[in-house]
Amino acid sequence: MAVERTLSIIKPDAVAKNVIGDIVARFEKADLKVVAMKMVHLSDEQAGGFYAEHKERPFFKDLVSFMTSGPVVVQVLEGEDAVTKNRDLMGATNPADAAAGTIRADFAQTIDENAVHGSDSTESAAREVAYFFSDEELCPRTR
Ligand code: ADP
Ligand code: MG
Repeated sequence: MAVERTLSIIKPDAVAKNVIGDIVARFEKADLKVVAMKMVHLSDEQAGGFYAEHKERPFFKDLVSFMTSGPVVVQVLEGEDAVTKNRDLMGATNPADAAAGTIRADFAQTIDENAVHGSDSTESAAREVAYFFSDEELCPRTR
């Protein structure tokens, strides 16, 4: 398996619940390393651009409104198989379908406010990491 990078966002609902640390601890316990991190209150343009692939979906407007409702924590996670590992830790999009012990099962109630985002492929990850971070903001973990 290859070392990958993936983009994670702790969404406004989870930030409001004050569980940033609980969520990051799960990444660290799974051997994913944070190589970039920032808290940001997204604008409509930033949130809409990030979710551009969903522009035609009926939930798009609500999604942008939710993602701009409070600050988020955006991180780049690095590790073996990071994309799939993060998606496994997150659980299914709808918390009702998320496996026990996953982030969404433990911290989210509804499909529209579901605690975390994670890139769904290495291609998405490359695009999403570049959307939020310049190369200089990515910090190699050499020790
Ligand atoms: P994921 O975040 O698991 O990759 P998607 O990429 O399909 O899921 O959707 C992006 C986000 O849009 C979801 O995390 C969720 O916040 C929202 N969303 C997806 N499907 C719905 C839906 N049917 N109703 C409301 N919000 C949705
Ligand atoms: Mg997705």
